[in-house]
Amino acid sequence: MMQQYLKTKEEYKDCILFYRLGDFYEMFFEDAKVASRELELTLTGKSCGLEERAPMCGVPYHAVEGYLNRLVSRGYKVAICEQVEDPKEAKGLVAREVVRIVTPGTNLSTADETRNNYLMCIVCLSDHYGISTADITTGDYLVTEVDSERKLLDEINKFAPAEIICNEAFSMSGVDLEDLKFRLNIAVYPLESWYFDDELCRKTLLEHFQVASLQGLGLTDLNCGMIAAGALLKYLYETQKQPLTHMTHLQTYTIGKYMIIDSSSRRNLELTETLREKLKRGSLLWVLDKTRTAMGARALRNMVEQPLIDRAEIEKRHEAIAELNDHVITREELREYLNPIYDLERLIGRISYQTANPRDLIAFRTSLEMLPHIHTLLEEFSSPLLSELREEMDVLEDMQALIEKSIQEDPPISIRDGDIIRDGYHEDVDRYRKAKTEGKSWLAKLEAEEREKTGIKNLKIKYNKVFGYYLEVTNSYKDLVPDTWMRKQTLTNAERYITPELKELEDTILGAEEKLTALEYALFCEIREQIASQVLRIQRTAKAVAMVDVFTSLAFVAERNRFVRPVMNEKGVIDIRGGRHPVVEQMTDNDMFIPNDTYLDNGSNRISIITGPNMAGKSTYMRQTALIVLMAQVGSFVPADSARIGIVDRIFTRVGASDDLASGQSTFMVEMTEVANILRNATSKSLLILDEIGRGTSTFDGLAIAWAVIEYISNPKILGAKTLFATHYHELTELEGSLAGVNNYCIAVKEKGDDIVFLRKIIRGGADKSYGIQVAKLAGVPDPVISRAKELVEELSAADISLKPRAVAAEPDMEAEQISLFDTVKDDDIITEIRDMDLGNMTPLDALNTIYRLQNKI
Ligand code: ADP
Repeated sequence: MMQQYLKTKEEYKDCILFYRLGDFYEMFFEDAKVASRELELTLTGKSCGLEERAPMCGVPYHAVEGYLNRLVSRGYKVAICEQVEDPKEAKGLVAREVVRIVTPGTNLSTADETRNNYLMCIVCLSDHYGISTADITTGDYLVTEVDSERKLLDEINKFAPAEIICNEAFSMSGVDLEDLKFRLNIAVYPLESWYFDDELCRKTLLEHFQVASLQGLGLTDLNCGMIAAGALLKYLYETQKQPLTHMTHLQTYTIGKYMIIDSSSRRNLELTETLREKLKRGSLLWVLDKTRTAMGARALRNMVEQPLIDRAEIEKRHEAIAELNDHVITREELREYLNPIYDLERLIGRISYQTANPRDLIAFRTSLEMLPHIHTLLEEFSSPLLSELREEMDVLEDMQALIEKSIQEDPPISIRDGDIIRDGYHEDVDRYRKAKTEGKSWLAKLEAEEREKTGIKNLKIKYNKVFGYYLEVTNSYKDLVPDTWMRKQTLTNAERYITPELKELEDTILGAEEKLTALEYALFCEIREQIASQVLRIQRTAKAVAMVDVFTSLAFVAERNRFVRPVMNEKGVIDIRGGRHPVVEQMTDNDMFIPNDTYLDNGSNRISIITGPNMAGKSTYMRQTALIVLMAQVGSFVPADSARIGIVDRIFTRVGASDDLASGQSTFMVEMTEVANILRNATSKSLLILDEIGRGTSTFDGLAIAWAVIEYISNPKILGAKTLFATHYHELTELEGSLAGVNNYCIAVKEKGDDIVFLRKIIRGGADKSYGIQVAKLAGVPDPVISRAKELVEELSAADISLKPRAVAAEPDMEAEQISLFDTVKDDDIITEIRDMDLGNMTPLDALNTIYRLQNKI
C-alpha cells in the first residue's frame, strides 16, 4: 500500500495527497506534517517498511469538506485519491486513483455563495496580456485582452480571483506577486510552459466547444486571450478530471465597455467592502443589495464592480427600474416568488459534475416551480430589458415535471441507500418495494394457490438459510406432488420441493433490497444526466432570474431610500441637486443627513476646490459625488432630489492612505505614486476626487505640489478632467479667477464662542480658517494641550510666516516658468534649521561651523 501511495504522490508532488483508506483520508510524511499543523490534527505514525515510522494523520471522509476548505483557502492544492473498486471485490490491494485536484480557484464548496469563486489565467506575451476568468461552480467563463500592466491589475482587482495561474513571463513581470498573495489573498501558480502551447490551447477549445474554428468563439483577433482561455480549460481538465459540460459558453469582452476604476479607487470608494474592516456592511453593495437569491447577489456584485459607459445600455437599466416602480405590487410579488429560489447556477453545476444529491434535485424542483409565476408576472412589463429577460427565461416545465414524478418529496442526502425514487415512476422499483414489504403475503397467496391446485391440504412454504424458500409436503400427501416440482431434500416424515415460481418469488424478495437500492441509484443518475443534458437552457434561465432579482432589488432600494432616476448625458454635465451619500445616510440617525448640490461641467466649472475644517464633511461630499455618478452608470437610481449625469470614462480617487501602511512604502510615496497614476491616465472625460494632496510632506512642498497638480488638471489642453479637490491649504483658493474652470467651495461651519458647529452644507467661496484647534478640542485632546496650541498659534501669526504663492495666469503654458512660487522659502529654511538645532549636543566648533554656513545662505 505504501508503494501505491508513494507512486501516486510522485505524480502529484505539488499537492497534499488525501489518500482514501476505508472511512478516512490519510496523509503521510511531509503532507501529514503540514496538514496536522494547518488542521490541528493529531500526528501519528505508520510502519511503512522504512526504519522510521511514516508520520501520518487523517480526516474522516464524511467531514472532508471542512478540512478541504481550510487547506485550500490557505493556498494549498489537495489531490483526492479514492478507492476506485469495491474493496470486497478487489483481489489484493484496492485500486486507487486521484479523482480530483482541489485548488483555491476550483473549490466547489466555498463558504460565501454571494460571490463568485474565480480562477484567473493570465498569459503575458511581450506587452500584451490575455486574461481568462472562470467560476466552475456556475460555469461562467470569460476572456479578454489588455495592453498594459495597469489594466491587468484593474481586471485582477475587479474579479478578485481566489487563484491565478499564469505563464512564466507573467510571474517574471513587474506585477507585485507578494501584494497579490498577501493583500488580496490570491494563490498564484505559474504553470509549465506546455499549457500555453498555441496548438494545444486551440485544440482544447475546439474540442470542448465542439466547433471547427475559433471564429465561432469570437477569438479570431484574440490570440493572447485564446491561449489564456485554452490554458485555463486545460488546467480545469487536469484538475477536475471531468468533462465540464456546464462550461457551455466562452464570453469575450472588452474592457472598453466598462468604466475604469483602478484598484485604490475601488477600495477608497468602498464599493463592495469597507476600507478598514473589509466588511460588506458599510459598503455601497450593502446598501444596494436586497436581492433574494445567491445568483442575484453575485450578479449585482459584478455589476457594481463594472459600471457601464454606454448611454443606451445604462438607460435601459434605468427604464427597467422605473417600470418596476410603476408596478410596485407586481414588483413585490416577483420578489416573493424569487425568495424560495435556490442557487440554480451552482445546482446545475453540481448536477453536471454528478455531485448533486437527491435533496439538491428537490431544491432544484422547488425553485423551478416559481418560474412560471415569475414568467407570468413579467408579462405586465414592456420595457426592453424586462421583456428580454422574460424571453430569455424558460420555465423548464419538463424538468420540473421530471423531478416531480421521479424523486420522492423528502429524500435522503445519500444516493446509495435507496428511498429516492417515487412510487409509480418505474415498474421494477415498485415491484422490488412491494416484494420487500409484501413478500410474506405473496408467499401465503402462492401457498394457498398451490394447496388448491394440488389438493395437498397441509402444504407449507418454509424457509431456511441453506435452501431458501421451499414447499414442504408430509409423506401422506407425497403422491399428490406434481411432476414439475423439484425435490430438494428428503426428511423422515416429509419432502421438500422447489418450483421455478417459488424461486422467482424468492429472488424478488431476497434480492429486492439490494436490487432496489442499486436500481434507485442508477435511475437517480439517469435523471440527473437527463437534467444535465439541458444545461444550456437552465443556465440561460438562471441568468435571467438573477437579473430579475437584481432589478427588483435595485427598484426596491430606490423606492425605500428615496433615490431618483438620473438623466444621462454625454456633454459632461454633472448636475446633482440635493445629493446624499448612499451609505453615510443609512448610518446617520433619522434623516440627519444634510443633502448637498454638485455642479461640474467641461467649461467654467471643471474643478471645485473645497476647503473647510477637518470633520466638516469634505470627503463625504466628494465620495458621494463619485458614488452617485458610479451608481448611475451601474444602472441604479441615485440618492438625490434630481441628477443629471454626464457619463465619465474613469473615476480616480486619491483619499487617505491608511490602508497602504502595510505595503512598506512611506505614506507620501504612496500618495505621489497614486497622483502620478491619475495624472498619467485620466482623460478629459474622467472624474477625479483628490483629498488633501500634498499633505504627507512639508507645508511648502505640499502646497507647491497641490498647486501644480491643479494647474495641470485644469488646463484643457493637457487634461481638463472634472475634479473635486479638498484641501487644507487656503492659499489654493487664490486660484479661482486666475485659472479657468476653477471654483471655490467650502463647507459651512458656525462659530459658537470658542466652539464650532458643523453645518455640513456646501457653499460657494473659500474657508478662511481651519479651526484645527476647535476640532482637536472636539476630539477630546486634553485642555492644557489645547490652550498651549492656542498660544502657539498667536505667536506664529505674530511672526507672520506667510505662505503666499503667486497665482500663475489662467490657461498657463506648461513650459512657462513656475518655479518662483514662494518668495519666503529661503528665510523659512534658515529659521527651521535654527529651531531644530540640538544645542545641548553640539560642540562649540560645530556651532561655529553652523553659523558660518547659515551666514553664507543669507
Ligand atoms: P472631512 O473630510 O471634512 O474631514 P468627513 O467627510 O470625514 O469630513 O465627515 C466627518 C463626519 O461628518 C462623517 O463621519 C459623517 O458622518 C459626517 N457627515 C459628513 N457629511 C455629512 C452630511 N452631509 N450630513 C450629515 N453628516 C455628515
